[in-house]
Amino acid sequence: MKLADAALLRQKVLIAGHWQDAADGARMTVRNPASDAPVGHVPRCTEEDTAGAVEAAHKAFAGWRTQTAKARAQFLRRWFDLVLLHREELARIMVSEQGKPLAEARGEIDYAASFIDWFAGEARRINGEVMASPWADRRLFTLRQPVGVAALITPWNFPAAMLARKAAAALAAGCTVVAKPASQTPFTALALAELAQRAGLPAGVLNVITGEAATIGGVLTTHPLVSKLSFTGSTDVGKYLLARCAGSLKRVSLELGGNAPFIVFDDADLDAAVAGALASKFRNGGQTCVCANRVFVQAGVYDAFAGKFAPAVARLNAGEGLAPGVDIGPMISDSAVSRIESQVADALARGATVLAGGARHPRGGRFFQPTVLGDCTPAMALCRSETFGPVAPLIRFEREADALAMANDSEYGLAAYAYTRDLARAWRVAETLEYGMVGINTGLMSTAEASFGGMKQSGLGREGGLYGIDEYLETKSLALGGLA
Ligand code: ADP
Repeated sequence: MKLADAALLRQKVLIAGHWQDAADGARMTVRNPASDAPVGHVPRCTEEDTAGAVEAAHKAFAGWRTQTAKARAQFLRRWFDLVLLHREELARIMVSEQGKPLAEARGEIDYAASFIDWFAGEARRINGEVMASPWADRRLFTLRQPVGVAALITPWNFPAAMLARKAAAALAAGCTVVAKPASQTPFTALALAELAQRAGLPAGVLNVITGEAATIGGVLTTHPLVSKLSFTGSTDVGKYLLARCAGSLKRVSLELGGNAPFIVFDDADLDAAVAGALASKFRNGGQTCVCANRVFVQAGVYDAFAGKFAPAVARLNAGEGLAPGVDIGPMISDSAVSRIESQVADALARGATVLAGGARHPRGGRFFQPTVLGDCTPAMALCRSETFGPVAPLIRFEREADALAMANDSEYGLAAYAYTRDLARAWRVAETLEYGMVGINTGLMSTAEASFGGMKQSGLGREGGLYGIDEYLETKSLALGGLA
């Protein structure tokens, strides 16, 4: 890979301000999902390495928490500037390990940077309160203080943004961090850590370690010096980590799977709905937790919607992320392609029809054709579980109440979308959907200013927005007596 700044491709982990190998020298290979070619190696950290990173973060905590909010904000601001300065290299590193189209990778770097910018501002607004005291001789206050060492476990689908959204909030709050990026995509995280170091972050405040998830996760979820775990990934792993954290009662934030409904009503602006569905469903090849997973279309516009949507999907170009004009990259793994294929087979066996795509891509490897299936039903596997691939099932409905009932009939509750031009319906739908995020007449709603997170089995807590920093803060009540 040709990078203007080759030092950004770090093949070591950052512990206590030092770039180092695993204690036993073990490494693992990172491969490009489009070609399977090796991108590089990263250390396979041991339990001792992980404990060392936790101890380094704990040691650095005393100094970091007592820096002024302004000093922490200034650090974040320098980090933000460096991330944008190196946007192109970061985006190319990301494409090489993650596979997404370069334009999307650049967009993700901007999105990641926007969280650093946002939390640089939030750092200076961590304010307490003064309560009206019931006692004449005492005053009551709240102080907001960092929880301590935060362990951050992040997924491969947004290697920069998921780390930045957690790390910037934690650092702004005054926490120190041990981060474990996904094994498939560690280089983006390591490059962000390199830039944090260049921004002058004190040693040990941000540690990034790589290796086997179970080995590292085992330590992070049980170590007494870890106060907080923030995880983004699958619901099963999230539940497992939550249970493990119970032993030492760590504070836990979870961003888990989704099964987003995308509802198109008869009164929708159909062109806008098609554009929104394309953006929501096919970004990152359908590998996002907020991707439209079930497209409900009211009977009066079903054919018209399908007639516009399917050809637009068929025009999407699958290919290697650095190639020009590519809309969809490879899936992350062979097993992901197999899962998508079996979900499509299940739908076809139960009566779905192919309106676009419908099979693996002729390019082979991990590519799957952008697909639209008509005549789907909620019982099909691809409507019950997250597809995490470029497949849009269309489900016809007659009445608003039916669509809402089907939409809410899920154990998940992350993102939901609806298109309508009726204001009363828009409001009704927004209030009825049991989802942490609702987009009305838009397929994209994630931004640093809005809170991100799910209800039901989609997670615990919120990231970004006004509440994101709360996940890293304790509220301490202070009573000051003897004032009579
Ligand atoms: P996905 O299906 O998107 O890969 P995972 O939940 O498997 O989602 O992975 C998300 C993150 O969680 C990754 O960083 C992965 O390495 C990590 N992870 C997976 N299993 C464990 C585990 N047992 N302990 C700690 N981290 C884990």
